[in-house]
Amino acid sequence: MTADGAEQRKTGPESACAGTEERKISGAALSRGLALGHAVLYAPHPAETGILADDAKAQIRRLRAAADAMQAAIDRLLQQRGAPAETRDILEAYQMFARDRGWLSGIERAIEKGLSAEAAVQHVLEETRDRMAAVKDVYIRERLHDIEDLSRRLLSHLEQRDDTAARTRLPEEIILVAQTLGPAALLDYGDRLKGVVLEKGGYSNHVAIVARSLGIPVVGQCEDALRFAREGDHIIVDGDRGDVYLRPSQYEIELYTRSLDARAHRAHMYRHLQQSRPSVTKNGVKVSVQMNAGLLSEVASVAATGAEGIGLFRTELSFMGWKKYPLVVTQAELYGKVMDRLGGKPVAFRTLDIGGDKPLPYFKAPFEENPALGWRAVRIGIDRPAVLRTQFRAFIRGAQGRDLKIMLPMVAEAAEFDRARALLEMEKNRARNGGQPVPEKIELGVMLEVPSLLWQLDTLLQTVDFVSVGTNDLMQYLFAADRGNDSMRRRYDPLSPAMLSVLKSIADQCKAAGVSVSVCGEMAGQPLEAMVLVVLGYETLSVTAPQVESVKMMIPTLDTRLLLPYLERLMKSRAHSLRERLVSFAHDHQVHIAQDI
Ligand code: PEP
Ligand code: MG
Repeated sequence: MTADGAEQRKTGPESACAGTEERKISGAALSRGLALGHAVLYAPHPAETGILADDAKAQIRRLRAAADAMQAAIDRLLQQRGAPAETRDILEAYQMFARDRGWLSGIERAIEKGLSAEAAVQHVLEETRDRMAAVKDVYIRERLHDIEDLSRRLLSHLEQRDDTAARTRLPEEIILVAQTLGPAALLDYGDRLKGVVLEKGGYSNHVAIVARSLGIPVVGQCEDALRFAREGDHIIVDGDRGDVYLRPSQYEIELYTRSLDARAHRAHMYRHLQQSRPSVTKNGVKVSVQMNAGLLSEVASVAATGAEGIGLFRTELSFMGWKKYPLVVTQAELYGKVMDRLGGKPVAFRTLDIGGDKPLPYFKAPFEENPALGWRAVRIGIDRPAVLRTQFRAFIRGAQGRDLKIMLPMVAEAAEFDRARALLEMEKNRARNGGQPVPEKIELGVMLEVPSLLWQLDTLLQTVDFVSVGTNDLMQYLFAADRGNDSMRRRYDPLSPAMLSVLKSIADQCKAAGVSVSVCGEMAGQPLEAMVLVVLGYETLSVTAPQVESVKMMIPTLDTRLLLPYLERLMKSRAHSLRERLVSFAHDHQVHIAQDI
């Protein structure tokens, strides 16, 4: 590892020369998937014309003509490549911003002070960057990405060069490397765009949301990517792990190409052989493998992967795509469509899990030093009952009498569950009194992800309808290790005696109380971890779409009776991790824990 956090490996005699060596950069996985292609650097071009201009009127005419051309090009772009419905708001907001009079008049004022049109665009951009540097408001920060993107487009229209699709010699398979991107940039390159590497960027940035809905892998927070990447370089983007390989060795390229081929081949085989079969272990334990989703466009993957339903629908992901707080009818339409498209398969809608690492631009929350431990998720829903009540109302309205499953994120004490239950009852009564169909069965469950709840589980289990373990947050709070901090996230292992003991205790208590329990955190999607969870008693696992297949392939190769006694012994050990022992067990007993690289 180098001081800048990027791993560097020498590959040959030319490796002494800067910028030619193989380099791995670890960042944040913002949109899943694997892509291999050639770098296209998305860096602003310095203006080629002078800074000052005498004839302000002529410069303003040039600016207006360029702005008209840019707006027309953006309109055409968005019409040509329609993005999925839930991201339409984001793209429309961008489109509107391209017409923003305030932005364009600011540039005109700079021209009137003597700058050329190009220099004025850059001047306004820099001024905006300075002004926004300290701003924490997500909505405003998102606007900065739009301004960066639009300024770049405006400059290329002023200079009458096309930086995007028509650029000559663009590779067939493009990996876009940029500091930040506006969402429309994803549409510029058509199907040739295979992946994106960003120096900045977070999970809730517009570009990340649109990329997820288009299925384009993105890795963000790759410091200095633009400094190290060169135009045309081979790049691998691993959006599952959050890793980027610059100028990978031939060996790595082959490995990843094989992995992509193997994925395609396995997906094909799986569709024909495995997909529709129920997942049952060798000793007859039936396991329901479900899928995590958050956008309507993802629901189709349930049928494509053979998942038995949606075990976690993260409603906040759709909220991120709306430009203002959605009305009940808007929400209800979404929930209803999700249920329609599932055709009777179950879905557990999770109420808004905002705050922490998932801010909503239009929902103003106070500044917090430590948002992961702050005002978030069900805490907001309880303190602002309108948030939770309107969402319950929308679930009921969307269900149109069909059974409902609702779960509450980040419940830390039984009293929070009781309060939410009371709000749900109010909404049921409201619907009844209004003559609306109310589902006969509405199950209200909790995500178990805050450790304090473990000490109230016995009483909670008397009233809760189901439990779903959120291992991502449970790990974070159990080990006091920030899930967003790469070195901390990997420091402790879910396959550690402590975490497995907690998981066993939850499964045992739920079983004794007759309450159904599942796992919906990332852990459940790894075949090795899934093997352990099934042995501990978890018979429902909810995983991301690409993971359904490998988890479903593992289950029929497992005999839980063989592993349980061994696991119980291992769990008493003082080891940091039981991973190696469990891998050996899987190999010795031919449990299929293979996974893509
Ligand atoms: C979890 O915490 O494990 C979970 C599934 O929720 P999220 O990742 O959305 O916080
Ligand atoms: Mg969580």
